[in-house]
Amino acid sequence: MNDKPEKFIDNNGLRLDGRKADQIRDIKIEVGVLSRADGSCYLEMGNNKVIAAVYGPREVHPRHQQKSTKAIVRYKYNMASFSVEDRKRPGPDRRSIEVSKVSREALEDMIFTEYFPKSAIDIFVEILQADAGTRTAALNAASVALADAGIPMRGLVSACAVGKVDETLVVDLNKDEDNYGQADMPIAMTPDGKITLLQMDGNFTLEQFKQGLEMAQEGCRQVYEFQRKALLDYYAKKEETEEVAVIEEVLQEEAPEEVVEESIAEEMEEIEEDEAEEVKAAEAESDQEIEEDSSETYETSDTVEEEATETEEPEDEDEEKEEDESTIDESDDEREVSQ
Ligand code: UDP
Repeated sequence: MNDKPEKFIDNNGLRLDGRKADQIRDIKIEVGVLSRADGSCYLEMGNNKVIAAVYGPREVHPRHQQKSTKAIVRYKYNMASFSVEDRKRPGPDRRSIEVSKVSREALEDMIFTEYFPKSAIDIFVEILQADAGTRTAALNAASVALADAGIPMRGLVSACAVGKVDETLVVDLNKDEDNYGQADMPIAMTPDGKITLLQMDGNFTLEQFKQGLEMAQEGCRQVYEFQRKALLDYYAKKEETEEVAVIEEVLQEEAPEEVVEESIAEEMEEIEEDEAEEVKAAEAESDQEIEEDSSETYETSDTVEEEATETEEPEDEDEEKEEDESTIDESDDEREVSQ
């Protein structure tokens, strides 16, 4: 743990981390980081790193908690055991229960809960890295996550703390300022200046309190600009990617038909060509056969003629036979006469 610094404000009026008194820490916001949540946000505010997830409106479990006229809002703030310097004991403690309660109240009135009777809107916030002002950072993330979930709200809630170090008012306190400062006042408000959370640790004079409120209001306005920009950028990009996806889908739907049409046409052409070739080949073959057949038939007639001449020869033989027979007959006659 760091020791208490001797001075919180240097001779140039700058704080230990180089910021001016009314300057908030750097903010980085990412929307829609969790795919299973209805809305989500990752937020860095200085060295704080938080993640928020929103589920709902959804069924209420346990059922006895449900309200017939409006949605119930539940908020769970959890500090990871590795988020702080000395390991934090895991699980809920008095502090996290208190932070959850005040944060829920800071958001609940901004939500049109009457639109969703008998349902629940659950907000979970995990502190991944803590460096003072985690409840305000968590509220900023939760508010963006609610918007991302499409929960109708009267306005985005933006939060930052105002405190006092070396009798000087400073916004968005860092760890040393929070630990060793004279006062710390986390505030959450809507863009039109309605305060939804105000806590105070330490002492302010009335004048300091009024001035502190104004400084916090300006700090919240700056936070609001980051939230608004993050949401606008995210949805502009999402719309663009969705448009591209739709165009790609349309193209993909069209493409196969074109391909199919093209391939069908090509196939048809090939089939026609093949058929034409086959027909040609068949015609050529049949012509050749006819020619061959006709030449063969001529040949046959020759052979028939030849055969016919050949068959004539035995006729001669028959004549000879007949002649022979007649000579036999004659000899028989001669025999008969001699007898
Ligand atoms: N802190 C810590 N251990 C704890 C609780 C808090 O180290 O169990 C640190 C943490 O960095 C936190 C800071 O103390 O941000 C101030 O805590 P506080 O209760 O004032 O809430 P916060 O300013 O974070 O909203």
